[in-house]
Amino acid sequence: MSNTVHDVLIIGSGPAGYTAGIYAARADLKPIIFAGPQPGGQLTITTEVENFPGFPEGIQGPQLMDDMRKQVERFDAKVIFDVVSKVDFSQKPFRVWVNDTEYQSKSIIISTGASAMLLGREDETALMGHGVSACATCDGFFYRDQEIIVVGGGDSALEEASFLTKFASKVTIVHRRDEFRASKIMRERALANKKIEVAWDSVVEKIHDPEKKSVTGVTLKNVKTGELNELPVTGVFIAIGHKPNTDLFKGQLEMDEAGYIINKERTMTSVPGVFASGDVVDKIYRQAVTAAGMGCQAALDAERYLEG
Ligand code: NAP
Repeated sequence: MSNTVHDVLIIGSGPAGYTAGIYAARADLKPIIFAGPQPGGQLTITTEVENFPGFPEGIQGPQLMDDMRKQVERFDAKVIFDVVSKVDFSQKPFRVWVNDTEYQSKSIIISTGASAMLLGREDETALMGHGVSACATCDGFFYRDQEIIVVGGGDSALEEASFLTKFASKVTIVHRRDEFRASKIMRERALANKKIEVAWDSVVEKIHDPEKKSVTGVTLKNVKTGELNELPVTGVFIAIGHKPNTDLFKGQLEMDEAGYIINKERTMTSVPGVFASGDVVDKIYRQAVTAAGMGCQAALDAERYLEG
């Protein structure tokens, strides 16, 4: 352990973490950013990003995140490509461990994001960003006049399916049971949409074709009858829920029942001096630009806290 007490440590390296880093560094707080298990966050598993302002031709997700990293490194900030293994927010200075190395800091910004829950299939992993997506808002636009499926039966799946009908010629919702979990209004809206069909009691048996590096169709299996059904779709949207990456902070910060951190005053968590921004607190918008905006807010809030 070194005796240095830092001004701010940032945990996470998605749009929220890097933006917090840019603002904190320009405020001369010399932040350290721990990049975590997926440096760059969720955008590194998408392809083209067309809705982040400033890129009239769009930009590849991994490129955008690499540029954000370079931008933060232009200033007096350090990115450490490692995973925080333990934290202690019960006393000041706060303590953060990366394996056996301990860091101390007067303030912390948590931007660990959320992970879209996935089916966990090999073909899904192979085709992620190449026809398989976990974000309709990000990728729906690419499926104009094409047939796609949305997997899931909750509000997210039905909302995404309705949204995707703006582009796709047909959207089949693949749900593993015979009734939706989603709210009544979402069910009614989806079922009234002529472009939406439902494959009840069905699961994805296969996504074709990892060898071609693009989605050329899916095989669905009816879990009651065992019957297989081929759908010639070009897109597979997984909408089976998100999980905030907050296991590390359990018992130290107030969270809601789903594990999202609850901010008490602007971006400050239940522990004064610990701030949270991006998808780790936001289950509604979940956009790169909203996360970046919140990262900026957290850095400004941390700066004011340190001045106080
Ligand atoms: P959710 O409510 O947990 O629904 C997840 C859905 O995915 C369920 O239908 C579940 O099936 C299915 N599922 C889970 N694991 C699966 C697997 N391995 N294979 C196949 N299907 C699987 O998640 P959500 O829809 O993301 O919603 C999360 C929260 O946000 C909810 O409280 C929701 O109301 C809220 N939300 C609200 C809005 C809105 O009001 N506009 C929009 C989006 C989300 P089962 O039903 O069989 O368990």
